[in-house]
Amino acid sequence: MNGAAFFLGVNFIIAICFGVVFAVVSTRSRSRTAALWFAAGFTVASLSAVCELLVAYTSLTKFWAIGAFASVLGGMILLRVGVGELYGRRVAPVWTCCFLLASIVLDLLIYDLPRGTAAHAFSYQTPFALVLLTSALAVFSSTRRLTIDRALGCLLLATGLHFFAKASLAVIAGAGTTARDYIGTNYALISQSSTAVLVVAVGLTLLSVLVLEIMADERSNSEKDALSGLANRRGFENGVKAAMALAPKAGHAVIICDLDHFKRINDTYGHHGGDLVIQAFGDLLRTSAAKNAVVGRIGGEEFAIFLPNTTLDMATLFAQALRGGTMGITVSALPSSFAVTASFGVAELAPGDDLGGAMREADTALYEAKRSGRNRVKQARQIGFPQPTSIKAGK
Ligand code: GH3
Ligand code: MG
Ligand code: MG
Repeated sequence: MNGAAFFLGVNFIIAICFGVVFAVVSTRSRSRTAALWFAAGFTVASLSAVCELLVAYTSLTKFWAIGAFASVLGGMILLRVGVGELYGRRVAPVWTCCFLLASIVLDLLIYDLPRGTAAHAFSYQTPFALVLLTSALAVFSSTRRLTIDRALGCLLLATGLHFFAKASLAVIAGAGTTARDYIGTNYALISQSSTAVLVVAVGLTLLSVLVLEIMADERSNSEKDALSGLANRRGFENGVKAAMALAPKAGHAVIICDLDHFKRINDTYGHHGGDLVIQAFGDLLRTSAAKNAVVGRIGGEEFAIFLPNTTLDMATLFAQALRGGTMGITVSALPSSFAVTASFGVAELAPGDDLGGAMREADTALYEAKRSGRNRVKQARQIGFPQPTSIKAGK
């Protein structure tokens, strides 16, 4: 077996491995369709290595040569479709089919041209280059701008340009006089090895894009409460950290709220009824809070709202509005006689204060709101702690 045939074997195994890996990744990825296109792309492209070997070792030279060309181009087109899916730059299926057919016809037309001529070499390589260059364009023009996306764009660009370099090399170094001679040339060795390196690089980069996406999703899920759709305690704390880092010199406020007599709601309407109330209360907090606020469900029927750049009095007013909103909550699955209230504790963070201290103060104020009859708002004292200041409760 000569060097080029060896690289063909290597390329085949690499492409098949990527096909399998992308199929596996598709089971976990939010970009499932793109991953499946990539799996199909690498699998189809792997057939080109088989065709190239059949060109050299069987008599149906022309058939297998066209097959090699079509399978590698078809594989690249499938990758282009996947890239379009992933980066929101889809291509119409009819255009991809027309392009593939036109390229195969072109390959048939140039088949008998002498190898190593510019006409043959560039006509042969240009379709590959075009598919890769449009893939690079899709990545660069998309709204996804992570470093990995830029790396993928650059790699696709380089891979696209390398087909023109291969065409130039075929003219300079010669690519064998016939398709059958090709495999014995130094050009075939360089061509197959450079393609192997680029195929691996493109495959690994695409894989990195999908794996990073999965990791980001896992992280976001681990910070989310499934019932209310709000942040859970971890998500809330991380969200607050990020919000505080944006305004390190500002004062902020935090509200902790807890549904009143929630056990009774569960006892009266069942656990599912209770869940619906938690969802409705979560919706109220989410829709009422400003965009830069951080809202989380930090316990069973306990929620927290972090208000950046907000004074204690402003936060208290907001909590009172929420208290009123809670009394107006209706849940369509529950009887119209259903009513729910909540109690609120409000505390402030001076610049440089930590969240933990303010949460403890808000919690004490909440306890005080519960102790003094529920369905009210209590403010932690602005100076000094732990005695919360009793302010107008609104009822
Ligand atoms: P209080 O006014 O003092 O807050 O009384 P409460 O009954 O609301 O508070 P308590 O802490 O005694 O009970 C809270 C109940 O909330 C107990 C628990 O079964 C229920 N709960 C916690 N998580 C969920 C949940 O996800 N869904 C439902 N339906 N109930 C939950
Ligand atoms: Mg409660
Ligand atoms: Mg509670």
